[in-house]
Amino acid sequence: MDLYNSLLEGNKVWVREKLEQDPQFFERLSKGQSPQFLWIGCSDSRVPANEITNTQPGDIFVHRNIANMVVHSDMNMLSVLDYAVNILKVRHVIVCGHYGCGGVKAAMTNDQYGLVDNWLRFIKDVYRTHRQELDSIRDEEQRFNRFAELNVIEQVFDLVKTTIIQNAWKDRRAPMVHGWIYDIRTGLIKDLGVTFDSTSILPPIYRVIETETVETNELTEK
Ligand code: ZN
Repeated sequence: MDLYNSLLEGNKVWVREKLEQDPQFFERLSKGQSPQFLWIGCSDSRVPANEITNTQPGDIFVHRNIANMVVHSDMNMLSVLDYAVNILKVRHVIVCGHYGCGGVKAAMTNDQYGLVDNWLRFIKDVYRTHRQELDSIRDEEQRFNRFAELNVIEQVFDLVKTTIIQNAWKDRRAPMVHGWIYDIRTGLIKDLGVTFDSTSILPPIYRVIETETVETNELTEK
């Protein structure tokens, strides 16, 4: 019970500290939110969006699941994405994975973990897509790290395939979509350099709009 109560006590301390820094903090937030970022991250307790980016409540709209996945039939993710992009009109969507991800690690094995195996299968699909590269990495730790990176990159691709992102690009030339990886050992985030915006050219099969733009940031898949 002490453990449980420590959260409620922690909340009181946090409120007191916030009000000391800014007496209007909660009053201002109560009037509404206008975050500029949507964060799609892992449920891992060590990767909290606000803390690791030194941001405040109100700054980031957040969706988290095991291994920061963008699954096209996931109504939860789609609802968050649609609301963030079309109602909140965020300027950036960030997929943030992390090294040491338990979901990614589990997907590398042939073990059964229960219901979650059905979710891990989407991560295994990423391995299959990049099997040649991943199998060529002999060091298991390095292969695990690269798999976590490739998983983020594939989720970024999956985001830009959605009508939600492509219609927003057509309507308001936003948001930009980014892929990041967080290193639990150092606390540092690395931008994986997979950024897409309204000028990006997608493979024809995934395009839902016509774009007359410069061929930059071409989306290529193996
Ligand atoms: Zn994780």
